[in-house]
Amino acid sequence: MCEPDTKPDAASENYVYDPSRLSGAQCMGDACVVCHAKWPRPRRVLGELPDGSHAYGCDECAGIIGHQPVSAGGPLIAAR
Ligand SMILES: [Zn+2]
Repeated sequence: MCEPDTKPDAASENYVYDPSRLSGAQCMGDACVVCHAKWPRPRRVLGELPDGSHAYGCDECAGIIGHQPVSAGGPLIAAR
């Protein structure tokens, strides 16, 4: 692998899932693309499908794969 050390910060939002590796429910956004959980209904956009529809995941899995939960008014770790 020749991945660069630096990650483009927009990359995670444009992660494209391979629909052939997802179940029908996952493709439809009815199940988490990570853990297949259908309830609670996955509401976080973890990426997208090649046809442009969104791939959804639950909050827990969003945290696991590195999506930061959007907390209203929360401090961003940007200052040094
Ligand atoms: Zn999940």
